[in-house]
Amino acid sequence: MPILPVYLYNHPVLKQKTSPVKEITDEIRTFIADMFDTMHSADGIGLASNQVGRSLSVAVIDISETDERNAPPQFAMINPIITHYSDEEIDMEEGCLSLPQFREVVVRPEFVQVRYCDVDMKERAIEADGLLARVIQHEIDHLNGIYFFERLSSVRRTLSQKKLRRIAAGEIIANYSTVDVAGNERIVGPPQGGTDD
Ligand code: ZN
Repeated sequence: MPILPVYLYNHPVLKQKTSPVKEITDEIRTFIADMFDTMHSADGIGLASNQVGRSLSVAVIDISETDERNAPPQFAMINPIITHYSDEEIDMEEGCLSLPQFREVVVRPEFVQVRYCDVDMKERAIEADGLLARVIQHEIDHLNGIYFFERLSSVRRTLSQKKLRRIAAGEIIANYSTVDVAGNERIVGPPQGGTDD
């Protein structure tokens, strides 16, 4: 399965709202499998399709390796929409594969209800809290062309500008393959030599 390069801030594809999937095809199933592989190889817990350069309403999530209790197995969300947000809000630190080395605490609703289609285009509805609710909101924001730093207070956002500019200028290098704002690929090969045992 190919590992796809991750598109970095501030590539235009990340600001476009993605298009709904009308019909699942073998090609899209293969693409979703590649998204899982790409997310895992970059140690991510969520990935939206526009983060790998394709403007389609698909995100993959896997929090099963975190210490979150009751974490579901990995799953893909096709055409997801949030149908309910809790009034309660909570602080949580977020990071993003499109924003290497950038982490900030973001305030978001604590619980959400989500509707989406699975990879068989079967409709699903789930309620989520904790880390899962957080990742779902982060990924659905991506599908709507929104970065998590856009959820920061204006003061914190202003303080983040320097770091964001460094990412856009290519001064912060990720340890996974990337595509920069100008469309230049930087391919990182598999780890060299040695065995982990
Ligand atoms: Zn992200």
